[in-house]
Amino acid sequence: MNPNPKWIVFDLDQTIGCFDSIHPFLIVFFPDLLQYVYRRPHYKGELFPVLNISVENKKLLATAFSEFVKYATLDEKENRLLRPGIVHIIALLLQAKKKGLVKDMIIYSNNANRYNLYFAHEMLKLLLNVKEDIFSQLVDWWHPLRNAEARPRMVKEPALIATGPKTILTIRKAFGNMDISTEDIIFFDDSNHPHVKRQIPEKNYFNVQAYFSSGNLNNLHNAMLRALMAYDLDRNISLLDEYKKIGLHIGVTEEDIESFRMTNIRPTNVPTDFDEINGRLYEIFHMNARAIIIPQTKIQFRNINLKGGSFRKKRQTRKKILKIRKTRK
Ligand SMILES: [Mg+2]
Repeated sequence: MNPNPKWIVFDLDQTIGCFDSIHPFLIVFFPDLLQYVYRRPHYKGELFPVLNISVENKKLLATAFSEFVKYATLDEKENRLLRPGIVHIIALLLQAKKKGLVKDMIIYSNNANRYNLYFAHEMLKLLLNVKEDIFSQLVDWWHPLRNAEARPRMVKEPALIATGPKTILTIRKAFGNMDISTEDIIFFDDSNHPHVKRQIPEKNYFNVQAYFSSGNLNNLHNAMLRALMAYDLDRNISLLDEYKKIGLHIGVTEEDIESFRMTNIRPTNVPTDFDEINGRLYEIFHMNARAIIIPQTKIQFRNINLKGGSFRKKRQTRKKILKIRKTRK
């Protein structure tokens, strides 16, 4: 048995979960992503205008985002953004890390939107009830580390997921250790990455079944509204006007948000390989993911602030909250 601790690499899309449905909401919280994701040379469509949003509002939006993640996590049983069983698999690896059997973990994704990786990471932290980072690096398609790789032609527009080889070189760079033995790298991906597959032991390559799902757009839309309300951003007319420039009409209907989805939602495909993954992890770590108790998540929400603003606006906000509450079971 190889006694060295393992270095764990996770793909994001269709491996950790399916995050297509959150894309339009990520644009609301991080409008800059339109310039980050949709850029040449891979994006051939019309470029998006830079929205005129103050630094202060950008900060508030980023803070409101953490409320959005909390609400989305609260409804995760219905939304099913995460792969079934992934929380147990990661919990097992965290325990293995505590025992010194795992050295470090990263997400290494061909998704061009770094906020997707960030969202998944924050959600997993909430579900596993951990404050510290689970993944030491979130490597998306545009991450500077990827300069180490040849950049092949990119994909059909307006896809957010690029195609390109994943390499051992980038994995070592991401872990900040060029001496990592290929024997010690464990790689989870629904795709086949021959550069990696050729170099690591067969048992270390977890070519998992692809997971597809559609998050409940109604829940996610409500989560976005609540998060904006918590910071009074739903009443910020100048901000809402900026969104309109890119066709996002906040707080109107889910359809307005839906129209901004921009990715193909494929039929749900629930993988059946959890027991196999668990069995293979048992061979390596002698731990059973099914036996691991996941701590109960206690999510604290920011109180929605009803102070300030005109009376009419306050009433409108209250109405919205009541409407949202009605949609909750
Ligand atoms: Mg994938």
